Amino acid sequence: METSNKKWAVILIGPPGSGKDTQAELLARELKFVEIKSSKIIEDKLKSADPNDAVMNREKELFYSGQLNTREIVDAWITERIEEVGKSGVGLIGNGWPREVGEVGTQMATVDTYYPKDSVKVVSITLSEGESVKRNSKRRVCEKNGHPIFDTKENEGIAVCPQDGSAIILRVDDAPETIKKRYQVYITQTQPVIDLLSKRGYNLITINGEQPIESVHRDILDKLW
Ligand SMILES: [Zn+2]
Repeated sequence: METSNKKWAVILIGPPGSGKDTQAELLARELKFVEIKSSKIIEDKLKSADPNDAVMNREKELFYSGQLNTREIVDAWITERIEEVGKSGVGLIGNGWPREVGEVGTQMATVDTYYPKDSVKVVSITLSEGESVKRNSKRRVCEKNGHPIFDTKENEGIAVCPQDGSAIILRVDDAPETIKKRYQVYITQTQPVIDLLSKRGYNLITINGEQPIESVHRDILDKLW
């Protein structure tokens, strides 16, 4: 594909369990784009925060209970990163933002600064609540880096992470009630973002997330260009 040297911005949006993280990684690797992942940015900021910082402690509470972080704070962190990547002149994979309608303005304005509108692709990956709960309930990750270990044939008998050799554990925060809450947060707060971006004239691509990982990946690539 000769498109990899082009400057595209691909914005992935999907509920918990939609495989968005894996798809973002696959696309970033294949197209040689840089991924901007909101949860990673937030986690890094929270981890390096001063434990006596009351504002950051509140953000930690929100993040680890499955709620959205304060809009203005996340907005600033994401925008800063979009600028870095945009200035460097490479393609961008957006993962996990904008998370709510209120973030669209500043975040997409920053994207627009570096990527012409016809090179911005909004990819909506759909998944039902039932499937989201099912997938997240049995989600395994590696202990060292949190790499997701999916229920695929090739992962059936493995005991350690194929990427770094660390132990495989069950994610502790994935109780069904927490997953349902995250899904509902997505429906009420994030899904309206898709309609808004479409109304503003961005290319919208809808992908059925209830397919195997490889099929979703192929579907995205087929529909992107
Ligand atoms: Zn790993």
